[in-house]
Amino acid sequence: MDAISRVAQSQYDHPFKFFLVHESQPNAFATPGGNVYVVDSLLFFVKNTEQLAGTLCHEVSHTIHRDAMNRIKKEQKIEALEVGTTILLGPTVAKAIAIKIIGDLNSLAYSREIESRADVSGSDICAQAGYNPWGLVWLFKEFQDADTKQIPQLLSDHPANGTRMQTLEQHFRDNPAVFSKFNPDPKSATAFTVPKDAPVVFLRP
Ligand SMILES: [Zn+2]
Repeated sequence: MDAISRVAQSQYDHPFKFFLVHESQPNAFATPGGNVYVVDSLLFFVKNTEQLAGTLCHEVSHTIHRDAMNRIKKEQKIEALEVGTTILLGPTVAKAIAIKIIGDLNSLAYSREIESRADVSGSDICAQAGYNPWGLVWLFKEFQDADTKQIPQLLSDHPANGTRMQTLEQHFRDNPAVFSKFNPDPKSATAFTVPKDAPVVFLRP
C-alpha cells in the first residue's frame, strides 16, 4: 500500500488515504480528494496480494483521472435540468423523475473506456510499485468463474469482461520493457491473509 501511494502521489495533488470499510458486498471505490475505500469482504474474495494491489492501483487511477469528480459534475448538470423540468411539469412529477435519474446515475457503472483507462494506468502504477500487474487479470478471470449472485455490486461497478482483460494483456505486450519481467502465471502469486488487527471504518451506522 505504501509503495502504491508513493508511486501514485506524484500524479495527484492530495494525499492518498486508504480506508477499510465494513459492507457485505465485496467492493472498492475511490472518492475525489484521494480517499480509497476497500470493503472488508473484498479481502476475503481476493486470493493473493497481486489481486488486491491491482484493485488499489485501479482505484487510485480513477482518482488521478478525476473520474468520480467528472461523474458528479454530470449529475449536477442533471440537477440543473430538473429546475427547467419543474416549471414544465410541476414540482411533484419533476422531482420524482429527477430522483429516479440521479438514483440510476449513482448505480451506473463507469463506461468501459473509463474502466479500461484505469486498468491500464493502474497496471503502470502497480508495475512501478513492484507489484505484479497480472493480479488484475487474475481477478477478472475469477469474476468470470464466480457465482454472479455473490458479486453483483462488484461486477456492476467494474464490469469484468474479456475486452478489459484483452486491453490489459495488449498493454503488457506493447511495453515489454516494463511488463515482461512479471510472471503471468497465477501460481506465482503471493498468498494473502487478512491481518487480524486491521482497522475497520463503518460508513453507515
Ligand atoms: Zn473502476
